[in-house]
Amino acid sequence: MSQEPPEKMMFQLTLRRRGISDQTILRTMEEVPRETFVTAADRGHAYRDSALGIACGQTISQPFVVAYMTEQLQLQKQHKVLEIGTGSGYQAAVLSRLCKHVLTMERYRTLADSARARLEKLGYDNIEVLLGDGFDIPAGAGDFDRIIVTAAMEQIPEQLLARLEPGGILLAPVGPHQGVQTLVRVTRTDAGFDRKALVDVRFVPALPGIAREL
Ligand code: SAH
Repeated sequence: MSQEPPEKMMFQLTLRRRGISDQTILRTMEEVPRETFVTAADRGHAYRDSALGIACGQTISQPFVVAYMTEQLQLQKQHKVLEIGTGSGYQAAVLSRLCKHVLTMERYRTLADSARARLEKLGYDNIEVLLGDGFDIPAGAGDFDRIIVTAAMEQIPEQLLARLEPGGILLAPVGPHQGVQTLVRVTRTDAGFDRKALVDVRFVPALPGIAREL
């Protein structure tokens, strides 16, 4: 019999019931300690299927959305992945177990520094956390097999699509900053870009530039 605490069993059940079927992703979601990524006050709610507030007025995504986006990325072990919107670092941690390398960008120094420290302490050694603007990715970072945007964009910038390797997949919440967005999956094919609308989601906005902090 499993010795898992009941909230972790419920967590797995909820993900399965909502349609996550990939065993590797379910196992990874079980292994990444979400309680380490939320604020001290929310530790008791870490395994609820809801988004929670973090520093700088931002949020850690809902576990179902993290699992769903991870599933839609169809990751392979050799993939190099870009995430825009580090936040707590939770999504980056999940991705890192399923690919070769994750570069994750965050516009708040406070969040980038604390995510970097947290991920290092937990031993996730294939993640680079970069303070920067996801609308302005350093040329030296190269191209990516997968790109995941975890903040809402009014549209997907051409320069971002240009950073996808052939056969690459990009996922982004597209829509108005306030309200509901559509999660869009773009696949780079020989002929161009295939776009598919997936589900409605609600993310905090993607904003340009490094954030000013007091
Ligand atoms: N993936 C995160 C949740 C992301 S919340 C997690 O697992 O916890 C969205 C994050 O995107 C916020 O932290 C916000 O500051 C950041 N963000 C918004 N616009 C950005 C931009 N242009 N470049 C980099 N990060 C951005």
